[in-house]
Amino acid sequence: MTLFEKIIAREIPANIEYEDNEIIVIHDINPQAKLHLLIIPKKPIKTVADMSIPDDIEIMGKLFATAKKIGDEKKLEGYKLQINVGAKGGQEVFHIHMHMLAH
Ligand code: 5GP
Repeated sequence: MTLFEKIIAREIPANIEYEDNEIIVIHDINPQAKLHLLIIPKKPIKTVADMSIPDDIEIMGKLFATAKKIGDEKKLEGYKLQINVGAKGGQEVFHIHMHMLAH
């Protein structure tokens, strides 16, 4: 089980910002900005490079839709979205997630 699957299963605590059937959004434990969220599909896809095409395109689109929803709700003027891909791309947790950072 990945760290994020354990958080989804409530085996490890997290500060949950949003959750639905397909996505969970948590606050990063080591924030790099005033707001640092991790937008995570519940489906444990390892990395962008491991996506099944076309099956996983819809859920990845939902990560962006969720970022927009949160940005709209919090009336953010701007934010950064980042996905690290693979160890050499800075990825530490091998369960796809999008960082959402706002100052
Ligand atoms: P990556 O480097 O894989 O793109 O990002 C993994 C992120 O997960 C890092 O920003 C790290 O701070 C965060 N993280 C690692 N362990 C935990 C944890 O137990 N809880 C939460 N909420 N975030 C974590």
